[in-house]
Amino acid sequence: MDYVSGKILTEKGFEKGYLCINDGIVTEQRQGSPSQTPLQNGLIVPTIIDMHTHIGDAFIRKKQLFLPRDILKLVAPPDGLKHRLLKETSEAEILSGMIETIQKMLVMGTTGFVDFRENGVKGIRLINEALGSEPIQGVVLGRPKDMMVDKNEIRSILQMADGIGISSISDWDLEGLYDIASLTHKKGKMFALHASERIREDIDSIIELEPTFIIHMTNALRKDLEKIKKIEIPIVICPRSNSFFDSTLPLPLPLLKEVGNTVLIGSDNAMLHDPSPLLEIKHLLQFYPEYFTLEQLLLSITYAPRKVLNLKDGIPPFTFPESFLVLDQQTIEPKYRFLSGKFG
Ligand SMILES: [Zn+2]
Repeated sequence: MDYVSGKILTEKGFEKGYLCINDGIVTEQRQGSPSQTPLQNGLIVPTIIDMHTHIGDAFIRKKQLFLPRDILKLVAPPDGLKHRLLKETSEAEILSGMIETIQKMLVMGTTGFVDFRENGVKGIRLINEALGSEPIQGVVLGRPKDMMVDKNEIRSILQMADGIGISSISDWDLEGLYDIASLTHKKGKMFALHASERIREDIDSIIELEPTFIIHMTNALRKDLEKIKKIEIPIVICPRSNSFFDSTLPLPLPLLKEVGNTVLIGSDNAMLHDPSPLLEIKHLLQFYPEYFTLEQLLLSITYAPRKVLNLKDGIPPFTFPESFLVLDQQTIEPKYRFLSGKFG
């Protein structure tokens, strides 16, 4: 029997104690101290789930280009720098950027992520190839390759992907988007979109799409957040990505806290920085310490996303996920990983 001890993050918050590991499986959580020296001490947390990524643009980071801090010039489809580079880059180069990103995620303790995958069916095939047999759960939200509604294409995407992830209602004809959302819901899959990021968007139109969750809400008003709270749609925030674009995308932290929305966290574009929700929460604790506690933030990258995505990686009847991390109490960096029954 092996042990790790310290503060264990449960669904209700931290509890002091230790975990027992027998033959590659977490078997029990106990109070007090273990009878023999534990393998590690620290903050014991389930592995991390990144609720919003675009790992397809990781190859751009390696080019060391000057990236404009203007969201339209950098990422807006179809003419933003990212989309121009995607068109002129080989699949092999895009794929190798994705594979490296997935490996970085695992090193940083992430075992699940939700990717907004561009380029229709082809784009989904590419990420599935990148995922290969890595011990990570990639939730793939595809989108049509052009900004057009082709029902056959949507059906093919829905057969291969976990759902649809749309850039925003501002980029689309609303009627077309309702068709896409309704096809998605009929298949019982997820529908998500960026909302009120660069500009405020009509919240009622967004709600009518019945999204599983929405991303950003940087330019939303209090009343928009209140409507979202009422119907309990989670909001994914991307702190470092918003900071990159500076003052045009202020993090709506005071309002999110006051209204009490369900907040999840994503690392957003892989071309901007290393994909790690742990780095996102470090950023929040460093620059905005008054809004959320470490415990709240750790819950928002572990249990909360598992609930929204309905991830089943717990061991019944014991609910602690089968993979966990031991974080350093000071730096909150992983000093120990226990992934799929293996120590590392
Ligand atoms: Zn995004």
